[in-house]
Amino acid sequence: MTKLEVLRRFYGYDSFRPGQEPIVDALLEGRDVLCVMPTGAGKSVCYQVPALLKPGVALVISPLISLMKDQVGALVQNGIRAAYVNSSLTAAQQSRVFAGLASGAYRILYVAPERLSLESFRQLCAGLQISLIAVDEAHCVSQWGQDFRPSYLQIADFVRSLPVRPPVSAFTATATARVKRDIEELVELRDPIRFTTGFDRPNLFFSVRTPEDKDAELLSLLSHRKEQHGIVYCATRKSVEEVCDFLCEHGFSATAYHAGLPAEERRQNQDDFLYDRKNVMVATNAFGMGIDKSNVSYVIHYQMPKNIENYYQEAGRAGRDGSPAECILLFAKRDVQISRYLILNAEPNEALDEKEQEELRKRDLWRLKQMKEYATSGDCLRGSILRYFGEHAGKECGGCGNCCRGTELYNITLPSQMLLSCVARTGQCLPLAVIRDVLLGVATGELEAQTTFGLLKEDPPATVEEILRFLIGEGYLASSGEEEILALTERSAEILRQRKPIAMLRHNTQKKRAAGTAEQDAPDEGLLRALKETRSRIASKRRVPPYLVFTDATLADLCRKKPRTAEELLTVSGVGLVKLEQYGSAFLQTIAAYESGTSDGERPWTAMEDTQLLDAFYEERTVLQMARMLARSTSEITKRLREKHLI
Ligand code: ADP
Ligand code: ZN
Repeated sequence: MTKLEVLRRFYGYDSFRPGQEPIVDALLEGRDVLCVMPTGAGKSVCYQVPALLKPGVALVISPLISLMKDQVGALVQNGIRAAYVNSSLTAAQQSRVFAGLASGAYRILYVAPERLSLESFRQLCAGLQISLIAVDEAHCVSQWGQDFRPSYLQIADFVRSLPVRPPVSAFTATATARVKRDIEELVELRDPIRFTTGFDRPNLFFSVRTPEDKDAELLSLLSHRKEQHGIVYCATRKSVEEVCDFLCEHGFSATAYHAGLPAEERRQNQDDFLYDRKNVMVATNAFGMGIDKSNVSYVIHYQMPKNIENYYQEAGRAGRDGSPAECILLFAKRDVQISRYLILNAEPNEALDEKEQEELRKRDLWRLKQMKEYATSGDCLRGSILRYFGEHAGKECGGCGNCCRGTELYNITLPSQMLLSCVARTGQCLPLAVIRDVLLGVATGELEAQTTFGLLKEDPPATVEEILRFLIGEGYLASSGEEEILALTERSAEILRQRKPIAMLRHNTQKKRAAGTAEQDAPDEGLLRALKETRSRIASKRRVPPYLVFTDATLADLCRKKPRTAEELLTVSGVGLVKLEQYGSAFLQTIAAYESGTSDGERPWTAMEDTQLLDAFYEERTVLQMARMLARSTSEITKRLREKHLI
């Protein structure tokens, strides 16, 4: 098999992403590799593809014990023989994995770094053919990185203990020059090929907001994104709990994650989010390392992180499957003061001397300053990030809040005057929904006599509501209580009396996104819903999160291509041979049923079913066996065989 065949067969992807192929090649040639790639760029494929092409088993060293199970689960879903060992396994489970290793049952083994120092594990490895070693989250080896793990210092010694040295590769998403040097030295990479791949993620739309009231802003943002899944990052545990409670009180399906929650609850909440049972995850930065939930459509930062590395890593959890997604930072000056305080009062790092600590503090303050500049500058946001990571960037990207400001502004001066005047005339005692309905001309009773009645009836209801929420967010209106009773504010006069022009940045800026974004044509909603149902059904039957069956990007591609045969299905991004076999017929049936509008009546025969029927016929199976296999009645089977002139 070639590397491209492996990519197609096991992952269902047509081509390598930028940067992946040279790394695969280097590892196939037996070279050491240092790879710096942003979160979501696709690092795993870089070592997994060579692992499947080279004889023996690949060792992946990863600090994310709690997530190894999911990572291995995803591989197994793709038909790749993989396993993991860490302290969460029982002794019996461990011996099973070790026996499997000895008999060559696995192509990829995930291990926690602590295990590398165990003599028994070293002995076992000495007897194995190891195809390559991949060190994931390699910055953990450096005290200058963000998540120093002393156990990572064992890696070099472990590699030296092997009778034959396999190629060693190190992967990380964030690395300054200093950390890169540490990785090379401390993992003892030998003459590595170094790759730093483009940090740009064209499908992410960046924006910064500086609202007076972050809670109101958050509500307004989320009310436009009710159907989507997203993460809200907060700086502290307390703030996680407050924001999560607040969102739940307002009827959002939110859950929380931070290191202070009991392990069981944390796991449960994480699963609720991963399995799409909850839409919003409110979390500290403890959540997300190694999480590959692909349908995260937005990441909102409720407080500003203390540096751009952290911000980009967390924001980068949006849009992992290449679909358009948003990264929104809610900024307040106070955020800077708090971070400054935390840096100046941080626990001293015992391993560093006084001078080094001082240097570290200075570096942290410098990073904070860069982050603040990002949050407050009017320049292209994507450009600021890319330049921070040492990349070249144009003046405007056309895909961030700052680049779109001014061009995509929506003049709402007139509607704002009408809405405020309606609030004033009706006595400032009506809920938002009623004010909206008066302007839309759908309110009833004495409200019909209002002078503002029906003035905005040409506009879609969602737009009128969006304008109202925008006015609240900007302080031109006040909203109180659950019913959102609207009242005027001090600032209302600017609109009502001073007739100030008001403009709103519309959220439908998708068209303006930078090149390379996945296609934007609206998918067929009905079909998408049907496909999602099929996906949930399969996911709950197999007890895996829905995105492990197919990602949202794959469902969107299915909607676009509407495949009818297995061959056509294979051209859909994210469908490889293994998934084709496992889920192909279910999804083809869903599409066929939808296309012929017979989802409730008799199911039409899909090409896939016909092939299976023919095979079964030539294998001399009985009609009853065929009926069971295809989940159809025996009479349907007989009828179909007759139609095909087989009986
Ligand atoms: P990283 O480890 O760099 O954060 P992952 O390896 O988890 O990123 O990959 C991120 C997402 O991109 C995953 O959903 C993965 O399946 C997808 N992906 C990786 N390579 C490709 C590719 N060549 N084509 C399409 N999607 C890809
Ligand atoms: Zn821009």
